[in-house]
Amino acid sequence: MDSASQSSRPLNIVLAASEAVPFAKTGGLADVAGALPPAIERLGHQATVFLPLYREAWRSGVPLKPLEIKLQVPVGSTLVEATLAQATLPGSTVPVYLIGQSRYFDRDGLYGRHGSDYPDNCERFVFFSRAILEAIVALKLRPDVIHCNDWQTGLIPVYLKAFYRSHPELAQAGTLMTIHNMAFQGMFWHWDMPVTGLGWDYFDWTKLEFHDRLNLLKGGLGDSDFLSTVSPTYAREIQTPEFGCGLDGLLRSRSDDLRGIVNGIDPAIWSPQLDRLIAHNYGAGNLAEGKAVCKASLQRRAGLAERPEVPIFAAIGRLDPQKGWDLLVPAADELLKEDVQLIVLGEGQPRFHDALDRLAARHPGKLRAFLEFSNLLAHQIIAGSDLFLMPSLYEPCGLTQLYSLAYGTVPIVRATGGLADTVVNATPETLAETTATGFAFRDPSVADLLEAIHRALALWPDSEAWHRLRLAGLQSDWTWDRSARSYVRLYQEIAQRAHT
Ligand code: ADP
Repeated sequence: MDSASQSSRPLNIVLAASEAVPFAKTGGLADVAGALPPAIERLGHQATVFLPLYREAWRSGVPLKPLEIKLQVPVGSTLVEATLAQATLPGSTVPVYLIGQSRYFDRDGLYGRHGSDYPDNCERFVFFSRAILEAIVALKLRPDVIHCNDWQTGLIPVYLKAFYRSHPELAQAGTLMTIHNMAFQGMFWHWDMPVTGLGWDYFDWTKLEFHDRLNLLKGGLGDSDFLSTVSPTYAREIQTPEFGCGLDGLLRSRSDDLRGIVNGIDPAIWSPQLDRLIAHNYGAGNLAEGKAVCKASLQRRAGLAERPEVPIFAAIGRLDPQKGWDLLVPAADELLKEDVQLIVLGEGQPRFHDALDRLAARHPGKLRAFLEFSNLLAHQIIAGSDLFLMPSLYEPCGLTQLYSLAYGTVPIVRATGGLADTVVNATPETLAETTATGFAFRDPSVADLLEAIHRALALWPDSEAWHRLRLAGLQSDWTWDRSARSYVRLYQEIAQRAHT
């Protein structure tokens, strides 16, 4: 096929992920896997999603239809049966196939419980990866590209090369491996190697072995046709020892095939114009009025004084060192000496739960810490706050700063990864050009975070400048349609390479 017809014909994309909204979610990957496929479809291409059939998928509210088909999936030296249930991604006609095996997926957590991983995670995702390839054959899907995401699907490109090239349904499939977070690589002890069904010759430093352990992401990074990650800055950062988590050498060796595409947000879920979870809908035309209503409602909900003139800072995210809580907690202790309010929403490591509880006790009436997971509160906090703190030590893309921008809530971010690519730091020049959308700082230090906070507080009393700043954020376009166009260009390149 010549390149002109190749680039204009509709593509057939299979997206494999271990979580997707609205079926199962622990983090940003679920938002990507739930929103990118419908955006691909809107651009005239076909997308199909594969997910594990977790217990919580039955509770998503989306009807699941069990299919007659049963697959026999090789796991180690045995065959394990996989069932399939079919659903459709809301707001689209994108089919979702959920791969069932109650032994692996009918559990409370996705990857573990009470902070520890399930001991059979290697086996669970060997099964999932292999079952997807079996299902593609059984369903005759003939994808142009299989888009794999993170370590849970890292073995798909490896299995494709090792076992499935002779199947006509897979003969021409190209592969894309997207890294959502280098810190999670799917590492297991070497005795899990037989479970993969691959020979010991794959337990080699050029393949799956990593410091005497089995590394599933490494397999995908080596064998996938193209690689991507979720922002251009993170794509550069992971090629350095500081951010590469031990795989920077491999990534440097593949740098010609590595791209960075910033995630998008789904305006049906995250836009102040349409959001049904917030006190008042608003847009560019009634930003000040709408935000004031949402702010008062949030102050009541958080038990803080209903004072419009006091800036509300917010932070939402996993209570994990990655998100910069070790900077945020001491900086907040300083910040809360001023006439400000702070609302935190997060759950995770107990030491941060304790630190936030202590901080709240030290600053009564000024800090409300919701130590839980609540989508409703996430929407209300993003809409009702004035400033959003995100001092991440590293951030592949980050979604909450994008939500903040869309809601006219001014982000204060560390200039790393996707945060550097999406927030325009307020300087005298960018403020004059009205391109500024937030405040950024470079060094991961409490002093630098506080310096950025004080720059924001210095601008706060200038209500016209503040309005221009938040309006610029609200009007910036970080929707999925923009990201999906970049993915489609990449899929076209992959398909072209796979077909030649
Ligand atoms: P990551 O994927 O590293 O956790 P992202 O910013 O990419 O970070 O995405 C986090 C997602 O999870 C966002 O949609 C955010 O709103 C949501 N989230 C994180 N913690 C909570 C919480 N405690 N309650 C509700 N939503 C949360």
